[in-house]
Amino acid sequence: MSKYISIFLLFISSVCFGQNKQYLKLIETVSLDSLRKYEYKLASAEFSGRRVNTSTGLLSSNYISNCFKNNGLKAIYENGKSYSQNFLIDIKLQKISGTQNISSDFLAQNIIGILPGKNQKLGHLVITAHHDHMGIVDNEILYGADDNGSGISALIELSRILGTSFKNGIRPKRTIIFLSTDAEEKRLLGSDYYINNPVLPIKNVFCNVNFDMIGRIDSTHLVSKNLNNYIYCIFRDTTNQVLNDFYLNQLNNNYTQLILDERYENEAKSKVPYSLITRSDHYPFMKKGIPSIWLFSGFHNDYHQTTDTPDKICYPELKKRVQFVLALIWDLANK
Ligand SMILES: [Zn+2]
Repeated sequence: MSKYISIFLLFISSVCFGQNKQYLKLIETVSLDSLRKYEYKLASAEFSGRRVNTSTGLLSSNYISNCFKNNGLKAIYENGKSYSQNFLIDIKLQKISGTQNISSDFLAQNIIGILPGKNQKLGHLVITAHHDHMGIVDNEILYGADDNGSGISALIELSRILGTSFKNGIRPKRTIIFLSTDAEEKRLLGSDYYINNPVLPIKNVFCNVNFDMIGRIDSTHLVSKNLNNYIYCIFRDTTNQVLNDFYLNQLNNNYTQLILDERYENEAKSKVPYSLITRSDHYPFMKKGIPSIWLFSGFHNDYHQTTDTPDKICYPELKKRVQFVLALIWDLANK
């Protein structure tokens, strides 16, 4: 080995090591206490199941706006004063989605905050999670702690960590858009609306990362403590350049050592045209051919029941999953 080659290798390994340290430092700041605090707020009686077009739904979207503001995210509506992308859902769509007796159009709100990257010419990331849930049904609150208090807690925690990083002058290359969607439970109307009314051109989206239900352990993984640290990754990338098995596994091995479970990924590939893949906010992005990934921890008996409460969230596992998505987002944002 020549002297020059060994110096070169030394340089490469120090770059990787330095980068490793930066990633590890960042993911160590994910806080279990913060996640628990957001969960208990989002899935509280005060927010009563966060149904679209209700006063408590509005309370929950105001709460997310305030978190984005405190975490230093940029607002773009009302001359930079509001995070709220308001839209009307018309009666016809509402009828399609199954609810009757609506007398007029109603209001929904996506909440959007931005962290501008160093290179505005590169494509941007859109991170999505839906904040709406089912509200009150038959006088009982459907709290929606896992669906999708868990995803919104992750989104807020990421905005806190990345917002702090930006404040300290450590910015990735790409712009990151935090998109908390409304009316997901009405057949993805919030993400659909965003696709047609984006903050930055849709053709410039580098990748969409979506969290929907990431706070529980499903029956497949409950059988053994060794299986608890897992996440289902369901993704599509027709270019194979941004998201692929090799990339996700390498990133996970380097930083988090979760089990990346491909069960639903394999099922989604085999069931055409309908599959689970159509059931959350990544889907409108996928339909546009944008590399997209859905992080998911699976179904459980409390799904869409009054028993989906914050005391049932598996906080250490949720924290680990947020650490994985933080590594993923930081890596994608610096590509
Ligand atoms: Zn959901």
